[in-house]
Amino acid sequence: MFFDLIKEYTEIPGPVGNEDLVAARMVADWTPLCERVWQNKVGNVLAKVGGSGPKLLITAHMDQINFLVKSITDDGFCWLTHGTGGSEATVPPNTAYIGQPVLVRGKGAAYHPGQIGVASGHVRTAAQRAEDSVDWDDFFLDLGLSSRAEVEDLGIRPGSQVIFAAETKRLGHHIVGRAMDDRVGLALMTQLARDLQGRELQYELYFAATIEEEVGLGGSMNLAHEVGFDLAIALEIGLVGDIPTVKSSYMPTALGKGPIITHKDARIHYSEKVADLLIAAAERLEQPVQHAVFHGFATDGDSLIRMGVPTALFTFPARYTHSPYEMIDEPDVVAMFEVMRELLQNG
Ligand SMILES: [Zn+2]
Repeated sequence: MFFDLIKEYTEIPGPVGNEDLVAARMVADWTPLCERVWQNKVGNVLAKVGGSGPKLLITAHMDQINFLVKSITDDGFCWLTHGTGGSEATVPPNTAYIGQPVLVRGKGAAYHPGQIGVASGHVRTAAQRAEDSVDWDDFFLDLGLSSRAEVEDLGIRPGSQVIFAAETKRLGHHIVGRAMDDRVGLALMTQLARDLQGRELQYELYFAATIEEEVGLGGSMNLAHEVGFDLAIALEIGLVGDIPTVKSSYMPTALGKGPIITHKDARIHYSEKVADLLIAAAERLEQPVQHAVFHGFATDGDSLIRMGVPTALFTFPARYTHSPYEMIDEPDVVAMFEVMRELLQNG
């Protein structure tokens, strides 16, 4: 049900600050389904879907994690640095991105293929082999080019953005790929708008697709000024502990056990009143939900609460977050969709 849309959305390039291609797709997909669609000055896409009642905002972010080119060597390699927030998930010693194919944004918003290079064991010195961590000076961007001039001809310079290039595909029972965070949230919103066409809603429903979440919730701070929202639901990737190297006592959530109501993260305690609405809707459907607290994690919901909008955080379980191979379970996404549809139709 969701795979095709998730594949399409996750494969649109949208590094932090250059979300234009994703925004254009949201405007194109939402305009025929919503009463009004607009983009504010910083680039957030907003939509009034329809319905009447309390003003309910559903939000997800368009940007995806990325690195930045820091400098270019004479022989055409690029050193990299942080492109997003400095969370433990996105900085060394996370080795999830070593050897991965990537895309680099050049002039004319063209994306050029490259890969993250690292010295193999065959050519590492004894001192390098003894290192037990990976840092920014251990890996680099290899575009397969031979000189600084060739790289610069593509419009690549310090500050150029580098995103993962992995294709989204099915793997066993699951779906794996890049930018599940947070394009799955956008796919949920589009699917809701499609499904709710012509149905009566208990809320005046709005959508927001935000910019720059990954660099400190940069796009969401202005959302509350757009419309006087009464309540909000932030859709995000959720953490799970169902792999051999994580203890369930540390993270009790899992793929395939239903959406996760996240009560608190590193920055805020989410609205229990709005969460209770989601829980009640899930109970009416006899749909199990999971409960969790996430540390080292923040979402656009934090901005909304600080700007005066009671907000719940509703997340889709995912393994390997902030990697090129984020893994989700389609039935969890379907369940999340059904719970929100129930809430919107029956309060
Ligand atoms: Zn996210």
